[in-house]
Amino acid sequence: MTAFADFTTLCVELVRTASRLGKRRLVAEFLRTLPADEVASAVAFMTGRPFPVSDSRVLNVRGLPAPARDMGPATGPPLTIADVEAAFVGVAEAGGAGARRLKDQRLTALAARASEAEREVIGRIIGGEMRTGVSDGLVLEAIAEAAGADQARTRRAALFLGDLATVAALALTGGPDALAAVTPRLFVPMLPMLGEITSDFGEVFAAHGGVTALEFKYDGARIQVHSDGQRVGIWSRRLSDVTASLPDVVEIVRRDLGGVPFILDGEVVALDAAGRPLPFQELMRRFRRVHDVEALLGQVPLALHFFDCLVAEGQSLIDEPSERRWGALRRVTSGRYLAERSVVTTVAEADAFLARALAAGHEGVMAKDLRAAYEPGGRGKRWFKLKAAETVDCVIIAADRGSGRRVGWLSNYHLAVRDSDGWADVGKTFKGLTDQEFTAMTERLKSLAVSDDGYTVRVTPEIVVEVEYNEIQKSPTYPSGLALRFARIARIRDDKAPGQATTLAQLRDLYEAQFRTKGRAG
Ligand code: AMP
Repeated sequence: MTAFADFTTLCVELVRTASRLGKRRLVAEFLRTLPADEVASAVAFMTGRPFPVSDSRVLNVRGLPAPARDMGPATGPPLTIADVEAAFVGVAEAGGAGARRLKDQRLTALAARASEAEREVIGRIIGGEMRTGVSDGLVLEAIAEAAGADQARTRRAALFLGDLATVAALALTGGPDALAAVTPRLFVPMLPMLGEITSDFGEVFAAHGGVTALEFKYDGARIQVHSDGQRVGIWSRRLSDVTASLPDVVEIVRRDLGGVPFILDGEVVALDAAGRPLPFQELMRRFRRVHDVEALLGQVPLALHFFDCLVAEGQSLIDEPSERRWGALRRVTSGRYLAERSVVTTVAEADAFLARALAAGHEGVMAKDLRAAYEPGGRGKRWFKLKAAETVDCVIIAADRGSGRRVGWLSNYHLAVRDSDGWADVGKTFKGLTDQEFTAMTERLKSLAVSDDGYTVRVTPEIVVEVEYNEIQKSPTYPSGLALRFARIARIRDDKAPGQATTLAQLRDLYEAQFRTKGRAG
């Protein structure tokens, strides 16, 4: 039995220790001292949770009741971690009429046995903020250290188990081998795999070994569907449970899909009466308004497009090549509700597929490596996304002298958007102009020059260009905070005055809209 005073001492030491490594060592050492049945609670407490994430119980209180916060020295036998755990269970289970009073009584009884420092720590666990500077990520590393397990393997187990307390209990009792044996679990959602953006099929073929599976990139919401034949659970990209908002999807899953138990990955798209995709906001209305779902059901029908299968017939496929997972997906779905897909080997075929996706009103395409395993929460070159370019109007505020084939030209243009009384840099590009246009542009810029350091010529902001880009990114280098990814001049807009260029505020809106449409974290 571990004294709660030891846990309290750990918290005090963590506050005193500034270095991340030092904190990690303290947590790992503490974990090693614990008997197996105290690990889960200790890890939950450490991360500011009265119960492990996988335990659905909640205290339903704001904090220690006022009289319990200041009650003098501890009375009765010293508290253990198990005592605090048991007291929390008592508080969570107090229900019915008079629940509030009962909860307060139980918390007050707990506080009476605690020292002042322990009371402080209990209050923080209840409040959900330990203020020890220990993140979930740090605890995860400490678990690996304590168990002598590989960091990556521990992280992977955490993705599958969805709960640090469970990971810790497993790691410290079963060791590295137990962690390695963890596979995805039904009704424990995993972070979805994501793709890296590119504008170039050449890069895709290089990374994927000359062959890639292209799929339509649907502008809907990511869903992960778990089913054991009885229960169906659906989670969003950020792992909120959206099952109750999608009764029609649950119905389809029950009625039309086989191969349970399974975990599928896909996209759900809202449709209008004519079957055309609706803006993502319409779908979000469904996600949010659980209570009105019945009313919205007829109004906002959904289309389902699955593209991956992580478990089929109870077998994990997560480490199988994606080609095999697609095969399993075809069996589970009998070929229905799938993403439009084509395996291609040439840029010409890929361009044709992209054109088809765009013509059908989709955002672009995903390109997936047929050899790749599924990496939950991963974003890399195994999956690429290629989107249709969008445009903004920028003003050229400076240009760099060209080299190589571009010697003699001002060929790398600094692009800016309007920002109240000035101009905000958002990117550079040397792409999009013909040789003739470069020559003409160089002359014009020279006539607008205000300074020249031999490499960069700064100019009066006068020339407006329409700039294509594939994504707006946060930029650590530009004071504007934003940068255009894959910028390319589409047109010189002599019909526009600099005062008509895109503003920084508009660019920020466009940046935010990228998140709105996908509901992803900012
Ligand atoms: P992004 O949000 O731009 O990183 O794009 C990734 C998102 O595209 C995923 O989270 C999915 O919601 C969505 N998506 C649409 N179609 C597909 C597809 N065929 N494969 C993978 N993701 C897709």
